Amino acid sequence: MTEDTIERTFIAFKPDAVQRGIMGEIMHRFERAGLRVAALKMVQATDNILEEHYSEHVDKDFYEGLASFMKEGPIVAGVLEGVNAVENVRKLVGETEPRSAMPGTIRGDFTHMSYEHADEKGVAVKNVIHASGNPEEAEEEVGIWFDEDEIHDYERVDEYHIA
Ligand code: UDP
Ligand code: MG
Repeated sequence: MTEDTIERTFIAFKPDAVQRGIMGEIMHRFERAGLRVAALKMVQATDNILEEHYSEHVDKDFYEGLASFMKEGPIVAGVLEGVNAVENVRKLVGETEPRSAMPGTIRGDFTHMSYEHADEKGVAVKNVIHASGNPEEAEEEVGIWFDEDEIHDYERVDEYHIA
């Protein structure tokens, strides 16, 4: 194992996860997989920060619904660290569309909506959690939401066995 395989990834509990009171259950899955929580904070998303965070989506039809969903209430932003953290966290999170997300994944277990239903209603797909899609996106997103002094270095006592 080289240090290059240790990554940081950005996650956010979306307003539906905060309001449904399922943050603990979701975080439990990341923690038991051995990922280290390096940063965590509750924030109210603004238009400016969402335009940066979702820069690849701002011109898409679903963006307006997505932005209004993400501002419905506070989100909880976090940084997770671990071996191939970006890929591993996406694996735990599952497919974007809840309908297609496999049982056992976070989105598969906690949501079931389809793109079709969301589009018909003119709303965003409420899928409880955001996770960076690739290492470049992760670095960018960590920088958008966190100052370096908000990210903490400490040792998990079980790192010897699970990281
Ligand atoms: N989204 C949506 N309608 C769509 C596609 C995406 O509401 O047709 C929302 C959904 O909440 C998704 C987010 O926009 O999680 C970002 O989309 P992306 O394709 O980047 O999916 P993710 O990386 O979150 O899996
Ligand atoms: Mg994405």
